[in-house]
Amino acid sequence: MENFNELQNEVLRLKKEKNALILAHYYVPLEVQDVSDAVCDSFAMAQKAARAENDLIVICGVRFMGESAKILSPEKTVLLPSPDAGCPMADMVTPEDVLRLRAEHPGAKVMCYVNSSAAVKAVSDVCCTSSSALRIAKSLDCEEIIFVPDVHLGSYVAARVPEKRFWLHNGFCPTHHKIAEADVLAAKRAHPEAVFAVHPECGDDVVKHGDLVGSTAEILDFARNTGAGEILIGTESEIVERLRRELPGKKVYGVGSSFVCPNMKKATLRALYECLRDEKYKVELPGDVLRAARESLDRMVNS
Ligand code: SF4
Repeated sequence: MENFNELQNEVLRLKKEKNALILAHYYVPLEVQDVSDAVCDSFAMAQKAARAENDLIVICGVRFMGESAKILSPEKTVLLPSPDAGCPMADMVTPEDVLRLRAEHPGAKVMCYVNSSAAVKAVSDVCCTSSSALRIAKSLDCEEIIFVPDVHLGSYVAARVPEKRFWLHNGFCPTHHKIAEADVLAAKRAHPEAVFAVHPECGDDVVKHGDLVGSTAEILDFARNTGAGEILIGTESEIVERLRRELPGKKVYGVGSSFVCPNMKKATLRALYECLRDEKYKVELPGDVLRAARESLDRMVNS
């Protein structure tokens, strides 16, 4: 059993000594979030990395988040504590898939969810987050959109932008995808007074029950600001734990029995400590991929 206090003190000491910035995603373990400079979603993470004055940035999350930070701040050293922490959804689409879809649908623009590799961003027209996808899809100057990799976020957006034709890739987040409508209905029966906040990476039959459909940050804001005293959360379990700690006056419930992203849990406190101590594992990207991916991310920021 790890001694969290000792490791946390060591992380804080190394962070100061090396003038490092630690950014954590909301889904990594709370004891890691607690020693981070900021806890954020993937896009805010990349933005904070780009604005930071520190030369050393540690991204506690999965690989595409480390890549996004490196794309937006190529001159900085970006470290990922767990080099094998990938995102199965990001891995479901390759640059070759995007090029094939482009050939099949000439004239369509390619929108890629930020949960994608740098190589896929490099062959896309514009990136989006779950909170900006609708706005960007509406504003794109085209009649057809190829959306990769998330079929669920893509179909959520497509249903709300009927003036455009969508071609969806068939990727999905295994963590959100496995939540079934029956899980939601059972949770609603158990907690009939609760309002339901759900992430659009879940399937349509789950999302349609949401009082709020939004990104992780939007779900957190909704839970904090709603007048309801009971909230049912349709996203990763660390959000439930965080809200229970943050909102002791409210009752916060999860849906289903194991709403956990195993890759996010690889950013352990020990992995973070060893990453800072040894200055490993550096995120590196080929120059041409980095430059092309930057254009897609810049269009998202400026759209
Ligand atoms: S929760 Fe899903 S989309 Fe997010 S990192 Fe894990 S597998 Fe990828």
